[in-house]
Amino acid sequence: MSRPKKKVYIKTFGCQMNVADSEQMAQVLSPEYVLTDRPDDADLYLINTCAIRKKSEEKVRSLLGSLRALKQKRPQMLLGVGGCVAQQEGERLLAAVPHLDLVFGTHGIYRLPELVRRASLKRQLDVALNEGFPAAPPRRWQPGSAQALVTIMQGCNNFCSFCVVPYVRGREYSRPSAEVVAEIQEFLAAGGKEVTLLGQNVNSYGRGLAKPVTFPQLLRRLSELPDLARLRFATSHPKDLSVELMALFSELEPLCEHLHLPLQSGSNRILAAMNRSYSREHYLEKVEKLRRFSPDLSLTTDLIVGFPGETEADFQDTLELVQEVAFQQAFCFKYSPRPQTRAASLPEQLPEEVKAERLARLLELQDRLTLAAHQRLVGQVREVLVEGESKRSADELTGRLRTNQVVNFSGPPELIGQLVSVEITEAHPHSLKGRWVAEPSPHSRRPVVEGEPRRLSC
Ligand code: SAM
Ligand code: SF4
Repeated sequence: MSRPKKKVYIKTFGCQMNVADSEQMAQVLSPEYVLTDRPDDADLYLINTCAIRKKSEEKVRSLLGSLRALKQKRPQMLLGVGGCVAQQEGERLLAAVPHLDLVFGTHGIYRLPELVRRASLKRQLDVALNEGFPAAPPRRWQPGSAQALVTIMQGCNNFCSFCVVPYVRGREYSRPSAEVVAEIQEFLAAGGKEVTLLGQNVNSYGRGLAKPVTFPQLLRRLSELPDLARLRFATSHPKDLSVELMALFSELEPLCEHLHLPLQSGSNRILAAMNRSYSREHYLEKVEKLRRFSPDLSLTTDLIVGFPGETEADFQDTLELVQEVAFQQAFCFKYSPRPQTRAASLPEQLPEEVKAERLARLLELQDRLTLAAHQRLVGQVREVLVEGESKRSADELTGRLRTNQVVNFSGPPELIGQLVSVEITEAHPHSLKGRWVAEPSPHSRRPVVEGEPRRLSC
């Protein structure tokens, strides 16, 4: 009889890329460990960390402090820290946290099983950065999972002056396209519907591959897979967004009408200091072209306020551009100085109160724009991919439009993982409410599961 598997709990901080990395950790450990959602039951407790802002790093340190008690209660439990903070801090983290057994960096995932085995005998540190995209073992997909995050690149060569990613994730490497296609074919064979391709700058996908492939070529190849209902990608750097790629939004059926295009600032002076290599005029030009190719395209973005030297006039430029583009959603951050980055040593670092006050004004504007965009959807019937039960109520399901907005509606749990038609009935600041209906959405390009007939409006 085989030995029962041990249990691993993985706490993930940060972006979709970290979520995908945690899925890989669970997979490489699966011959010996099963995932548990109960930390106090785990034989192995892993924290996958994010170093993008100081606040994310502080959360990790505070969690590590609070785990001292658990480790005292269960000394046989192994505690490991992986990801960007592990890469950045390495040896210092082991020295600072005596109850930590293992520190592994962003490229250490595939060496995890061996590291964990050794950590039960002696504390381990592995922060080596690889050359090239690591040979990933084939993914195994859970039957019934409708969505997949597929990493197609790692690292970044752009060195935006505020960003720690090139230091903690290393140089940019693309994953061979045959591996990407094979992984997605497996996912579709297991019943999957939506794929999100991940990389720090997917527009430069394919550079340096033995068999060069461009990102538009990869999207075209994937769109030919007959069972792929939805295709998304993140993130796209505005400087490398080509007309060829923009045109694909009107051409490729599975490519969803949503693009995350980080702007960061609306001021040319600040964009130059950030080393972003585009101006507000270039950005606007690209948005106009994109909307010509795909009028329904929903744009989301990232914005930083309080970059060193940002004046009130620079900030006004950001507010003005945000208003003009009318983003569907924006992730807004206060600038946070990061180790090794150029911006961290710039003079004119702004006081925290100025950053906080600008952030509040920006959020207030963006909330208004998001609500207005949501209100324009009321009365429309749209295709929704049902993701699960809604967090607020077990009686409700939650899903996303092709244009990325979250919709909650009533329906049976059997719909989870299916494409359905939903009439949008209410707009809220962060989500929509809807009703599952029989008729296919004019925006759906696929058969959907039918609900009750739509009432004729009274
Ligand atoms: N590769 C993406 C791009 O080029 O836009 C961004 C990846 S980064 C993980 C996600 C977002 O975090 C960035 O777009 C930026 O807005 C924000 N960010 C990165 N470094 C930051 C810092 N030092 N302070 C505040 N926000 C930061
Ligand atoms: Fe960071 Fe810039 Fe690379 Fe994005 S493109 S990961 S912001 S350095």
